[in-house]
Amino acid sequence: MQRNRNEVIPIKPENDLPLVDCHNHFPDKEPYRKPTHSDEEQYDFFFNQHKGQFIISSASDWDYDYIQNYIQAHENKYMTMGYNIPSERYNRSFEDLKVFVDFLKNNKDKYVAIGEFGLDFHHGKSIKMRETQVEVFQKIIKETKSLNKPYALHVRNPTQRNIDQNFPNHEYNQRDICNRIVLEKLVEEQIPPERVMWHCFSGPAEWGPKLAEKGYYISIPSSAYGFKRWRRNIPGVPIENLLTETDACLQHPFRMGAYNTPANVKYSIAAIAYVNEIDQLEVAKKVLENARRFFGVK
Ligand SMILES: [Zn+2]
Repeated sequence: MQRNRNEVIPIKPENDLPLVDCHNHFPDKEPYRKPTHSDEEQYDFFFNQHKGQFIISSASDWDYDYIQNYIQAHENKYMTMGYNIPSERYNRSFEDLKVFVDFLKNNKDKYVAIGEFGLDFHHGKSIKMRETQVEVFQKIIKETKSLNKPYALHVRNPTQRNIDQNFPNHEYNQRDICNRIVLEKLVEEQIPPERVMWHCFSGPAEWGPKLAEKGYYISIPSSAYGFKRWRRNIPGVPIENLLTETDACLQHPFRMGAYNTPANVKYSIAAIAYVNEIDQLEVAKKVLENARRFFGVK
């Protein structure tokens, strides 16, 4: 399905901005969307045809080695270490979790942040599965906080369609429940807000300014350019708290389901500039500064 939505903003993204893609899955080991260009062409788009500065890729257990090898062979490319959130689709054992945490402890120099991991009450359907997610989330934070690495969190709240019909009144069906739990656990474990990025921030919109005020980073996906539901989370978040990402191969700027590439992070910049009525270059410079600070990349 690749239909255009008529929600695209009336400005064009600029091509000579200092870009940073703070979260993607590039290069994809087993792409489930058909790539439009080879890995090398996408790398070239970002660093040579645009003024891309650096790319942060999220690896998970099945592609650690693959992404690690790519990073070693390419400049300005860094990795975060993620853990698949348990759901009815991904069964995870506590043994998997132990392997993950041990890897993090023993390979500190190989990655710049921990994530993505978090809560997903869209894919976690039952209350029981959601409870497991919360347990796993807290365990990862507890076991890794002494590593002093930034966290890239995936936080997806349930929609009306994701209500567990066996327990329709359970609080785990509420529209901002994942935000609330994540915030509560981060505070409980005393994680400094400036060490946390809410990747592909999906709202609800009133949460953006609220989280930014506490010092968290909010990452805006390239799809904010063409989809109101992503763009509406930008207003009220100071530029100092914003990061940009493509989540490639996901989050295409204006098409549903189309393949996305890191250079499209320029569409996130355009969306932020449009909403705040400021220059794209000014946004890009600020976001680059934020990203360098957050990931500790020189
Ligand atoms: Zn992702």
